[in-house]
Amino acid sequence: NSMSAGQHTNSASSNAGIAGVDLSLVRCVSNLELGKSPEQTLESLFHLFDTGDKGYLDAGEVGAIIGQMVQVAASLDWDTAELRPILTDLMWRLDSDGYGRLSLADWLRGGASSVPILPLLGLDASVKDDSSHEWRLRRFVKGRHCNACQRQLTGLNKLGLRCVLCRYTVHDKCLVRAPASCIATYAKSGPQQHRGCQQPQHHWTEGNCAGARCGRCRRTLGRSLANLRCRWCQVCLHGRCAEQWADQACDFGPLRQQLLPPGALYPAVLDGRPTSLTLRLVPPPDCVPVLAFVNPKSGGRQGARVLRRLRYLLNPRQVYDLISDGGPMRGLRLFHQLQQFRVLVCGGDGTAGWLLEAMDTFDWPGDRPPVAVLPLGTGNDLARCLGWGGGYEGEPLEGILQRVAAGTAVRLDRWRIDFSTEPAGGDAQQAAESGRPPVGIVNNYFSIGVDAAIARRWHLSRERHPKRFNSRLRNKIYYAGIGASELLGATCKNLHRDLDIVCDGCVLNLADGPPLEGVAVLNIASVYGGRSLWSDRPGHRQFARQDMGDGLLEVVALKGAVHAGLVAGGFPSSGRRLAQCSEIVIRTRRSFAMQIDGEPWQQPAGTVSICRAGQAAVLAAPPPARPSGLGRLLCHRGGGSEE
Ligand SMILES: [Zn+2]
Ligand SMILES: [Zn+2]
Ligand SMILES: [Zn+2]
Ligand SMILES: [Zn+2]
Repeated sequence: NSMSAGQHTNSASSNAGIAGVDLSLVRCVSNLELGKSPEQTLESLFHLFDTGDKGYLDAGEVGAIIGQMVQVAASLDWDTAELRPILTDLMWRLDSDGYGRLSLADWLRGGASSVPILPLLGLDASVKDDSSHEWRLRRFVKGRHCNACQRQLTGLNKLGLRCVLCRYTVHDKCLVRAPASCIATYAKSGPQQHRGCQQPQHHWTEGNCAGARCGRCRRTLGRSLANLRCRWCQVCLHGRCAEQWADQACDFGPLRQQLLPPGALYPAVLDGRPTSLTLRLVPPPDCVPVLAFVNPKSGGRQGARVLRRLRYLLNPRQVYDLISDGGPMRGLRLFHQLQQFRVLVCGGDGTAGWLLEAMDTFDWPGDRPPVAVLPLGTGNDLARCLGWGGGYEGEPLEGILQRVAAGTAVRLDRWRIDFSTEPAGGDAQQAAESGRPPVGIVNNYFSIGVDAAIARRWHLSRERHPKRFNSRLRNKIYYAGIGASELLGATCKNLHRDLDIVCDGCVLNLADGPPLEGVAVLNIASVYGGRSLWSDRPGHRQFARQDMGDGLLEVVALKGAVHAGLVAGGFPSSGRRLAQCSEIVIRTRRSFAMQIDGEPWQQPAGTVSICRAGQAAVLAAPPPARPSGLGRLLCHRGGGSEE
């Protein structure tokens, strides 16, 4: 038996299994399978390994596959000492009939539940080798030294390359002299192998300490490259103080309760327990890690900057780029194994809605992890009413991560909205021209009539002249201007004649009272970037206080175009309260402008129905605290950081 194991090793190192399948062929299959589901890729692999189309993998073929898996693990620097027996055990547990061979069903079931087959064959981009730097060209304003040649980055532009993850900085011509490896983001051995024998290590980079205090002697540090900063705990030291500090373990600094230390992640297969997970997460007992998602397209260049900064402050495996990572699923799949974590999504309302919908597709055995929203760009109603502000203005992200940890989980009702149209000829034509309703879920609000018409005009103008709409204030004024121009007034006059609103089975009497030109249905208190349209007033006993998790929607009338323009521009103005209810049906007899969470479109005559679709957990921000104890510590540790 030992001989055959040796054969496997030899054949693996020559890159060809005994079944005659080599790794480059496996990669080839994976390229052809791009965009297919993991199940489909697994099935193609099965047929690739099954020589002669027997319909099963025999002992030799399974042995060759294990050999290739060990080779891939070794190339990722994993501790492979016990990997072969672990894999042999896990693979043969898949043999359901005990004939010493694996059927296609065994193989697919294994890949889905007990062996991370695709990552172990090198077909999962998320476990790519994590030792390489992530270079970014940047301009240094203050004098900065090259970590390789020790000279200043000089010249007109002071350009240099800096690693986003460890902040090692070089001239472009010195790049070849940079150390080959960057930070380790996860442990390469299982818990049995490294338990107790290793304390957390600092990752020191020279320089980048100016203005910070030395962690040992407390004196202020200068620009010298003799000073050191740890990328994990952010401690800065004089070179001469570092020697006395050498035996101090890294405590991961002020963010230790939000940060996943590299030792808390390890290749799941190394503990020998069946799982399809690539990495197992075991955070320290007092740590509730933050899973961050950033939309790099939000808020101009702000999104990309927040993304880089978070990847430096946290473990990069906690931070996902919603565009290049293809959405939130990868991060959610990795973190789904945890009992407790918090989510920070950085972007506008649309980004938050995207994430909440992705979270709906998971089964959460306990409480759903609560979501905080860092508002980037425009359209931040949800963030505003949760207390995260109407727009991020470059505050230190350390403080924001602390506030995520201190926030309170609250429930957010979510509403399913359905449309049905009358089979009328003319309107159907119009529908094709005006686009479809954006999504089937309402998180913030739905509206019909004059304000949606204004929003629609604004969107159309913005598409034509994007440059005119890059300032929040100018947008507000523009909104108010469209309303005041009264151009739209005519289209929405006497709205009540063309629609009925049925709240919890009762038809609202819209003919009484002042004429209305728009109706808004609110889930959250603050919409249109402004104050509450519902405006809770004490002593008003007819209605309950507005609450985003009470299972009730608030229905508000908008008086006219001028009013709607002010409201849509975010100027304080409240509507006329019509109803509070848990189910709404709106029947329209002609085409109307409508909008959901700031996305407007034109909808032909028909029926709109809104009913509750469960709840999400979101995080209300704690009230902003004065910098004391921890805050001051953060400020001083953050000193010298250049972004
Ligand atoms: Zn690096
Ligand atoms: Zn240099
Ligand atoms: Zn450290
Ligand atoms: Zn010192």
